[in-house]
Amino acid sequence: MEYYNNKINNLIEQLGALPGIGQKTAARLAFHIISMPKDAAARLAGSITDARENVRYCKTCCTLTDAEECPICKSAKRDHSTIMVVENSRDLAAYEKTGHYNGVYHVLHGVISPSRGIGPDDIKLKELISRLSGDVNEVIVATNPSVEGEATAMYISKLIKPIGVKVTRIASGVPVGGDLECIDEVTLLKALDYRVNM
Ligand code: ZN
Repeated sequence: MEYYNNKINNLIEQLGALPGIGQKTAARLAFHIISMPKDAAARLAGSITDARENVRYCKTCCTLTDAEECPICKSAKRDHSTIMVVENSRDLAAYEKTGHYNGVYHVLHGVISPSRGIGPDDIKLKELISRLSGDVNEVIVATNPSVEGEATAMYISKLIKPIGVKVTRIASGVPVGGDLECIDEVTLLKALDYRVNM
């Protein structure tokens, strides 16, 4: 890519390192950014820095937030005795968008995956277990119905059962190999309604 100068190449390289962005898209985005008004480009750069600097894990559910505790954990209107375990904050958002789930969440930030070297200690499992000493009636495991998501669900179930808390798993309706954030609301709610004991 010697035909662009270094600064453009650098921008293309940085953008191309993002997930889902190929070289062509990276180049298109880079040229778009360069043609933006300077203040708009500065706002974009600023929001990246700001988000990176100030977004952190909620001290209770581990979702990404800009406060010590996220609005869901802080809310007195939510049922804090029901915890839905999701893989990431995007899956949390998918269930929140349905507007029909009133419990709270726990965000694992990944799934157990021996092939990718991700063990139980690499996701927010300890944090989940530490929440169960409180007043918790049910843990709904809503990891994706992928091989790794299912294996993680089984692991969580085995871990929690001895504590004496009910563990359920979201049911069919979610296609095998599916990705929760891409599934429509009706399917998500069906999966939640027909959850099964683990
Ligand atoms: Zn929270």
